[in-house]
Amino acid sequence: MNLFSLAKQFPTEDAAIEYWIATRWPDGVRCVGCDHDTVYRIKTVGKTGKPSLIFECGKCQLHFSPTAGTLFHDSHLPLQKWFAAIALMCEGKKGISANQMKRHLGVTYKTAWFMCHRIRKAMSDESIEPLGSEGQVIEIDESFVGGKVSRAGLPEANRRKVKVLGIAERGGRVHLKKIKNLKLETITPILEASISENASQIHTDGSTRYVNLLPKEKHVRGNHEREIKAGDSLSNQTIEGAFSLFKRGVVGSYHKLGVEHMDAYLGEFCWRFNRRREQLEMFDAALSNMTREPLPYAKLKGGDDPF
Ligand SMILES: [Zn+2]
Repeated sequence: MNLFSLAKQFPTEDAAIEYWIATRWPDGVRCVGCDHDTVYRIKTVGKTGKPSLIFECGKCQLHFSPTAGTLFHDSHLPLQKWFAAIALMCEGKKGISANQMKRHLGVTYKTAWFMCHRIRKAMSDESIEPLGSEGQVIEIDESFVGGKVSRAGLPEANRRKVKVLGIAERGGRVHLKKIKNLKLETITPILEASISENASQIHTDGSTRYVNLLPKEKHVRGNHEREIKAGDSLSNQTIEGAFSLFKRGVVGSYHKLGVEHMDAYLGEFCWRFNRRREQLEMFDAALSNMTREPLPYAKLKGGDDPF
């Protein structure tokens, strides 16, 4: 959803709140304390002096806001701004930096950064369905991402860079995961969890690393240099494409990407990449995941919430 259709669909804060309530409780509001379904609406005045809506449970009398206990928890920003932030993060193929978000929304950098991380938590798959379950061809590759562009091979160059293992269905979904090293004990559990036994073929580069890890009858070892010389299509085209898009995002959008948050960035990237043909549904998918548990600032960085 682009910002224009967003403004059209949610012209007022009330419209955004009602949409959120219907997303969070499609079968009617329930108490967040005791789960009772008799809940009253109370109009009150919020901390910012603006009218706001809270609920009162008919059973345990608990008062709670429509956003209590979710990723919007304790935020005093209007939901309209949050919706715009979610739309912007769904829209940008390469992602969006906290600085861009700050300019679009007119909030501080710290707030923008924190919003991005909360939305990033919603734009992540908590579990992945193994790739290749419908008999697709699988590609595996590794790459260094993040950090400053510097001379490869130097210890300094590697310090801020992170090694990432990529697994993809050719032309389909990808799974990118930060790894410490390429040792068997590191890679094996990731491959086992990510690749379906229905996969028809599994392509890797020419290294012998995967020889004992993958079923012989499915494993195809390619030679990417030879493929390029011969003008053939690359046997790692999908994973290569995903890596290069992610890296352009790192350079173009994230600038100083925090290495400690790499898995969250990778998760967001894969979530969006894997829904690239469902652009229209993406906003609602992210919004319904905002019902996930709150993400306190202290958990990310330490210190108080910037809201
Ligand atoms: Zn209750």
